Amino acid sequence: MPIPTEPVGSLPRPAKLQAAIADYDAGKITQAELKTEQDAACKDSIERMEATGAPIISDGEQRASSFATYPLADTLAGTGLADNLAGDGQYFAIFTDGHHRQLPRLTGGPFKYKTYAADYLKEAVKMADKPLKQAVIAPSMLYLLYPLDGEIDGYTREQFMEDLINECEKDIRLCFAAGAKRVSIDFTEGRLACRNDPNNPWTGRKMLEQFIELNNRVLDRFTPEERKNIGIHTCPGGDCDATHSADVDYAELLPSMFKMNAGYFLIQLASETDKERVYKLLGEHSREDANGVPQVCFIGVTNPQNPRVETPEEVRDDLLLASKYIPVERLGSTDDCGFSPFSIDVKPKHGSPDFARNVAFQKIESRVKGTAMASEELGVAETPHNSAA
Ligand SMILES: [Zn+2]
Repeated sequence: MPIPTEPVGSLPRPAKLQAAIADYDAGKITQAELKTEQDAACKDSIERMEATGAPIISDGEQRASSFATYPLADTLAGTGLADNLAGDGQYFAIFTDGHHRQLPRLTGGPFKYKTYAADYLKEAVKMADKPLKQAVIAPSMLYLLYPLDGEIDGYTREQFMEDLINECEKDIRLCFAAGAKRVSIDFTEGRLACRNDPNNPWTGRKMLEQFIELNNRVLDRFTPEERKNIGIHTCPGGDCDATHSADVDYAELLPSMFKMNAGYFLIQLASETDKERVYKLLGEHSREDANGVPQVCFIGVTNPQNPRVETPEEVRDDLLLASKYIPVERLGSTDDCGFSPFSIDVKPKHGSPDFARNVAFQKIESRVKGTAMASEELGVAETPHNSAA
């Protein structure tokens, strides 16, 4: 089988869509008018991603407020916030350029999603000719909606966790039911949990193991056959071309991360300074048998925070080096992160979100070409003979 390649999920929203979101928040346009812009952005995203030659695509998450808040609010400004939430929750992350992103705060129970990822996927399926993947948010991120200390009156932490796990399981099952070929769980808070940022209290609580256990409570509800197509994405964040935890050594995260019984992992790597060391760690810590599934390591080969387009040869060489440490049947390629996990993102290092979209499609094309070249070199390319078999 050729080396598989898969995107994380998001693309920058076109400047026109970002303006429409602002107009919607300001009450200047209706939800139907906003949807027209979202439809156009999804269609363009799907068509252009298909044109890269990628075997599996996404809708660029053009309808989502962000990778983390899509179940909870229609826009990042908080328009259409779900029941039992207030806008002023914890900082999910503070980024290297000083900006931050905030989560809502739970004010009572029960906890219910307002929007499931499949609601977007159903629209995308109608527009796509190629198989689609869908990203969903990890329970460990939404766990941060509950206050760090104490309990909410009338809604215990354990009640909340039960509701949260049920909602995350449902989110994933609905994606497969709507036609997703693969579902990956965004777990950017994993690496951040290894930091201790005094300005962001939850990061100092050593919550990584708790996150892993919680996520496994969701994963363990799926059969090994289902978990082959359920992945985990790890990264040091990616927003406004900045990161939140790139200074955390992967050696602190990876031994714990691979305890999650997922069938594949989408791992930021192109922007690491010592890639070979990380490939080695992946080889050491990823498991051949995670409760019935082998863990496939999709290494990041393009950096969405940097406008320079990686060449197919660079992608190929990354994979060839990684294959020294990771068995080729458990090796894949991906982008380091979504190209714009948050809907409002001007992509400052790129100059504009529209230019950043052009760059993103070029990077995806390089990833696809370079991965095919690596498959060829490693003798796993699809030949006319075995593809017909
Ligand atoms: Zn990411």
